[in-house]
Amino acid sequence: MSSTTLHMNTVAGVEVSGDHWIGGRRVASPERFDDVSPIDEQVIASISRGGPAEAAAAVAAAKAAFPAWAATPPAERARLLHRIADLVEERLEQLAIVETTDNGALLRSHLRGVMPRVAHNFRFFADYLVNDLHHPEFETRGHRNHVSWDPSGVAVLITPWNAPLMLATWKIAPALASGCTVVLKPAEWTPLTASLLADITADAGLPAGVFNVVQGYGEEVGDALTGDPDVSRISFTGSVPTARLIARSAAANLTPCSFELGGKSPMIVFADADMDSAVANAVEQYDNAGQVCLAGVRLLVQDSIRDEFLARFVERASSLRQGDPRDLTTDIGPNVSREHVDRIDGFVQRAIADGARAVIGGGPDVDLGGLFYRPTLFVDAQPGSEILTEEVFGPVLTLQTFSTEEEAVAMANGTEFGLAGVLFTGDPDRAERVGAQLVAGTLWVNCFFVRDLRAPFGGSRHSGVGREGGTWSFDFYCDVKNTCTNQDRWTTGR
Ligand code: NAD
Repeated sequence: MSSTTLHMNTVAGVEVSGDHWIGGRRVASPERFDDVSPIDEQVIASISRGGPAEAAAAVAAAKAAFPAWAATPPAERARLLHRIADLVEERLEQLAIVETTDNGALLRSHLRGVMPRVAHNFRFFADYLVNDLHHPEFETRGHRNHVSWDPSGVAVLITPWNAPLMLATWKIAPALASGCTVVLKPAEWTPLTASLLADITADAGLPAGVFNVVQGYGEEVGDALTGDPDVSRISFTGSVPTARLIARSAAANLTPCSFELGGKSPMIVFADADMDSAVANAVEQYDNAGQVCLAGVRLLVQDSIRDEFLARFVERASSLRQGDPRDLTTDIGPNVSREHVDRIDGFVQRAIADGARAVIGGGPDVDLGGLFYRPTLFVDAQPGSEILTEEVFGPVLTLQTFSTEEEAVAMANGTEFGLAGVLFTGDPDRAERVGAQLVAGTLWVNCFFVRDLRAPFGGSRHSGVGREGGTWSFDFYCDVKNTCTNQDRWTTGR
């Protein structure tokens, strides 16, 4: 299809524009692509397929809007962000059903957790800007030092499909609060809620060009966005290979990048742990059909409790209900696309060929068909094998045993990643001792997924570059400036 007319889609009863949002208006591309729902693999929307021209136009619009937005007083920026949050809350059910239809994640989660969190992202960074961002001042031999947070310019934000609006707003909110203008490139598999957010920002009164959305395939639009000399920051959440491409492109202008990347996180369970809680949390690692970067997918269980843990895990995991994510009683929905399911199945079949044994799962759900993959747990995987070291990003866990703390730490740290760690033990001294040795941006002890936006978030090793959250976000999106003033040289008597 080749046309530059605007296109409106109706998705789950909600009107969603299929076009870019550039400089405060909708812009169509000559080429379009189909957006497919993972629930039934039906085409649900037609989306403008952006390229370098649209990328350049969005960056230009953001650049033009920057001076006025940067000069907008923080209290006014915060007011507008709160207004966006109000509208997210007003349209919460629409956002939730559109996101579920687009990426297949549970409607229950979107209604109760994810979309309220989207609104919270805006409120948190609005309030942080006004109340919590410190501007340190100190004296040096009669000179006054004053630290300020100057907006850096145009922030390009590139985001994945597994939690589209949640992960995008985690970047958009602090970037806008910082006084940056934004160009968002959502994943091509999940373009819809970014488009709805563009409507929300307009209805909230955000000036034209402050927030822009370019739709399209990463490889077609990415370089033009990340290599544009008018871009001051790039924040990317996605895979390691894409991060390498972005880093290369950004290097031309030395544009600072923040990368939140993949993981292969361990969940370590010591024999002294609360077994009920450990088992419940282990089964939770199947959340979002395993498409969670932070998931503790490698279960490392102390050998003395292995049999009991495994039996209880299997019993609990077997009771999970897999099915239509719009049904509020469903626990596991489909995976995001045919291509991704094939990728997951490739990992699983190679693991089996490599000698690993699937205690549960081990293939697609033949009863449900489509993109439903059975929750899988492997034991007896070969040390060093692919299933123990590479990110599957599907409902696939492995279980290994250890006997000593040293062994647990060595196994836990034995991948190229360092995103998260999950540790279950009843002994606080052990938690401290072991925790100190784990390579991870986030470590959860006797819990999982508790998240406070004041905390730093990011990954070590190949799981990321930099940290975002609280002050760390402002640190990234701003040019932090120190002004050192000689207090004895005023001539106007101030
Ligand atoms: P991906 O890297 O394929 O795509 C992510 C985004 O990058 C998409 O918007 C895509 O269009 C874009 N892109 C692709 N090629 C590009 C290029 N050459 N230039 C610029 N942009 C380009 O990743 P994905 O499959 O969408 O997401 C899954 C990955 O994201 C997993 O590795 C997962 O662990 C990771 N992830 C990390 C976090 C975190 O916070 N650390 C959170 C969620 C997902």
